[in-house]
Amino acid sequence: GLSASVFFQAVEHSPVAISITDLHANILYSNRAFTKETGYAASEVLGRNESVLSNRNTPRLVYDALWGRLKQQKPWSGVLVNRRKDGKRYLAELMVAPVLDDENKPIHYLGMHRDVTELY
Ligand code: FAD
Repeated sequence: GLSASVFFQAVEHSPVAISITDLHANILYSNRAFTKETGYAASEVLGRNESVLSNRNTPRLVYDALWGRLKQQKPWSGVLVNRRKDGKRYLAELMVAPVLDDENKPIHYLGMHRDVTELY
C-alpha cells in the first residue's frame, strides 16, 4: 500500500482547501490551499475555531444544519459566505464530514472547501 507520507503529501498539496479539526471545530491541521484561499498561514489558525472564517452574517440555520448532520455522523455540504484574513468575502462551497475511528466513533472533523465566487 501507500506510505503515510504519500497520504500526507496528497492532502498537503491538494488544490482544495482542507482542514482537520477536533470535535469542537478547533483547527488542528490546514493545508496549503487553505492558506491560499483564506489568507491564514497554518500557524495562524492552529487551535482557532473554523468560525474564524465566518462572515458573521450566515443564518444560524445553516450552522444548525451543518452540526446536525455531523452529530448524526453524516457529511454536510453547502455554499456559504466566508471572510478571508484581509476581510474580503468569498463564496465557499464547503463539505464537512466526520473522521471515524476503528469503532466508528467520531474523533475529528474534515473540512474541504473551494472558492466558487467566480461561478455565481
Ligand atoms: P457557534 O458558537 O459555532 O454556534 C453556531 C451554531 O452551531 C449553534 O447554534 C450550534 O447549534 C452549532 N454548534 C456550534 N458548535 C457546535 C458543536 N461543537 N456541536 C454541536 N453544535 C455546534 N463555518 C464557517 O462559517 N465557514 C467555514 O468555512 C466553516 N468550516 C467548518 C469546517 C469544519 C470541519 C467544521 C466542523 C465547522 C466549520 N464551520 C465553518 C462551522 C464553525 O465551526 C462554526 O460553527 C460557525 O462558523 C458558526 O460560528 P459562531 O461562532 O457564529 O457560532
